[in-house]
Amino acid sequence: LAEKMKNSPAEVIKKLMMLGVLATINQEIDADTATILAQEFGFEVEVKVEQDVEALFMQEPEDDPADLQPRPCVVTVMGHVDHGKTSLLDAIRETNVTATEAGGITQHIGAYQVEHNNKKITFLDTPGHEAFTAMRARGAKVTDIAILVVAADDGVMPQTVEAINHAKAAGVPIIVAINKIDRPDANPDRVKQQLTEYGLVAEEWGGETVMVPVSAKTRQGLEDLLEMILLVAEMQELKANPNRPARGTVIEAELDKGRGPVATVLVQNGTLTVGDNLVAGTTWARVRAMMDYKGRRVKKAGPSTPVEVLGFSEVPQAGDQFFVVPDEKTARQIAEKRANRKREEEFKAAMPRVSLDDLFNQIKEGQVKELRVIIKADVQGSAEALKQALERLSTEEVKVNIIHQGVGAITETDIMLASASNAIIIGFNVRPDVNARRVAEKEKVDIRLYRVIYDAIEDVKAAMSGLLEPEY
Ligand code: GDP
Repeated sequence: LAEKMKNSPAEVIKKLMMLGVLATINQEIDADTATILAQEFGFEVEVKVEQDVEALFMQEPEDDPADLQPRPCVVTVMGHVDHGKTSLLDAIRETNVTATEAGGITQHIGAYQVEHNNKKITFLDTPGHEAFTAMRARGAKVTDIAILVVAADDGVMPQTVEAINHAKAAGVPIIVAINKIDRPDANPDRVKQQLTEYGLVAEEWGGETVMVPVSAKTRQGLEDLLEMILLVAEMQELKANPNRPARGTVIEAELDKGRGPVATVLVQNGTLTVGDNLVAGTTWARVRAMMDYKGRRVKKAGPSTPVEVLGFSEVPQAGDQFFVVPDEKTARQIAEKRANRKREEEFKAAMPRVSLDDLFNQIKEGQVKELRVIIKADVQGSAEALKQALERLSTEEVKVNIIHQGVGAITETDIMLASASNAIIIGFNVRPDVNARRVAEKEKVDIRLYRVIYDAIEDVKAAMSGLLEPEY
C-alpha cells in the first residue's frame, strides 16, 4: 500500500498507529482500514473483490443431457473376513485380464477393469466396507454397485451385516455373491434364508436381490456374476460426459521411492489428459504421466477409468476429490489456500503438552481428557487402519482424537502441529527426518515408531487403560 501511494512504509505504519492499528511492514490490513488510511494520505480507494477461484471450480456445472454417454459401472467388494473377497477380486482379474493378454502383468493400482460382452466393469481393489465408508466420510461417492461376498459354508457373519448396512446407508444396490460353493459343506439356501432377515430376498424367492453362486477357487459362476453386474448396472443408466475437464476421486496414494507422490484416481466425469492441472484435497498436480491397471502409459482417461497419476506436489489422501483447473498457478493457489485453512483448523485447539508415558498422570489430574494423535504411515491404508483402531480405544475418560494423518516421513511440520496441539506422533513404517528429530527434541514432542499396528494400539491402550481407575 505504501508503494502504491509512493510513501515510505514507516510513514504508513506511523499513520496506522495513530489510527490505533499496530501493524508490521508485511501485515495485511482489511479494506476498511486501508480506505481510511488512504484518505489520510489524500487518496481514494476502490475496492476490488478478489474472485474466489476455489468456489469457481468446486461446483460442478450441469451437463447437457445430450452430452452424456454411457459409462462403465464401478463395483466394490464387501463381506466378512475370509469369505473370499480378495480371492474373488483376484479370480476375476486373472480370468478376464491376464489370460486375454499374453504375458500381461497386471499392476495393483487400487482398481482394475474387465470386459464382459464388450462392456467394461471397473472393480475397486481394496475390499471391505471400511475403505468404502472411509471414502464416503470424505464425501466421495464412487461405488455404483456393492458385491456382498458370503461364504456358503459359513453363512451370514457380523461383518456381512455391517457391509449390508454400509451399502444400504450409501444407497448402493447390492449383488450377493455366494462364494465357496465348491466346498462340500456349502449351503447356499441357508445363506439366502439368513439374508432375508436383513431385507435381502433372492429373486428366485420372489425378492429383488440378485444372488449368484460362485467359487473363487474353481471360478465357477464368475461369468454369471459379471453378467448380473452388467444387468444391474444397465438399470442404473450410468452416464457421464467425456468431453469436459475431468473430476473424480483419489482411490489410493503413496509416496513412491523412485517416482515421488503417486495416486490412483478414478475419473468420474470428463476426461483426464496428460498435462492437465488438477487440485486434489490440499494437494495439486500437473499430470506428468498416467498408467492404467496394466501398467501401460496412457494419454487420456475417460469416465469410470482408474489411472495412476504422476506429478503430484504431495501425497493426496484416499477419498480426496479432484478437479481439473485451467493452469498450474490456479491449481497451486487453490491447494495452498486449502492447506493453510486445514493447518489453521488443526492448530486451533491447544492445551498442555502430553507424552504417552505420563499420559496416565495427566488423565488422573484431570489435565487430559483427549489424547491427540498424529499418524504418519508409509501407505494410506495403514494410516486409515491405525486411525480407526485408535479411535476405537476412546473411553468415557479419554477420547482419542486423530488430528492429522498422512503418508510419508515425519516432518518438521508434523512436529510443529503436534507441539501446538499437544499431540503425540505415531509413525508406522516411517521415521522422522533429521530436521524433524531436532525440532521434536526441542519441542519435547513424543514420537513413537512402530512396524506392527497391533503394537501401537497396545501401547496406547496400556497408557490409557492400564492406569485408569478400576470401575466397579
Ligand atoms: P477375504 O478375507 O474375504 O479377502 O478372503 P480371502 O480371499 O483371503 O479368502 C479366505 C480363504 O478362503 C482363503 O484361504 C481362500 O483360499 C479361501 N477361499 C476363497 N474363495 C474360495 C472358494 O471359492 N472356495 C474355497 N474352497 N475356498 C476359497
